Amino acid sequence: MGRGGFIILLGPPGAGKGTQAAALAQRLGAAHIASGDLFREALVQGTALGERARPYMEKGHLVPDDIAVAMVAERLVGLACGAILDGFPRTLPQARALGETLKEMGRAIDRVLYINVPEEAALQRLAGRLTCRQCGAIYHEVNRPPREAEKCDCCGGELYRRLDEKAETHRRRWQAYLEETAPLIDYYRESGLLVEINGQQAMEKVQGDLIAAVCP
Ligand code: AMP
Repeated sequence: MGRGGFIILLGPPGAGKGTQAAALAQRLGAAHIASGDLFREALVQGTALGERARPYMEKGHLVPDDIAVAMVAERLVGLACGAILDGFPRTLPQARALGETLKEMGRAIDRVLYINVPEEAALQRLAGRLTCRQCGAIYHEVNRPPREAEKCDCCGGELYRRLDEKAETHRRRWQAYLEETAPLIDYYRESGLLVEINGQQAMEKVQGDLIAAVCP
């Protein structure tokens, strides 16, 4: 990847995008921009965009495109290094808006990495997910348990289940993914940017495949 390039991580909820994006960003010296984290921070801070997003987030719905685009565009202002985009774009209008924003900035998308995981495997992963309240690190009750129950290995922060993490909400998010986000796979395939990665492998193997796709 050229310095300053952008990489989009695409995949269903529960594909492991967050964990993989954080590791990839560290490895490449790029920023990790997770739209879900931007929204959760905005909720905690009570910003105007956060308040507009709240009712959608609490129900597990996507927030309207104009809010999502504004939130990410704000984060991109003045960004000097490259970035891994995780959770954005999630719809075709968002993808088009991102293309335009990057063009205006004189930047471009280098690769779109699509982590492919079937529904049942993804839902099972989501069911056990724990997030650190302090640093945002992600654990899993079965696949990646913390050393000490309910405590973050990195910072000792309290681990919690996200507000939107109930079985019924997962199904709704999966449905939203199929309807709104899955069309991006073809959109980016047609532009020749897409690389598909098998997300059902061990975490380290998925990470290896992602790196190989970015630095062939
Ligand atoms: P995530 O952590 O990526 O699952 O995002 C959590 C929630 O934030 C989602 O369920 C949506 O309500 C909202 N959200 C995050 N990114 C986007 C996006 N690109 N478009 C619309 N809503 C988003």
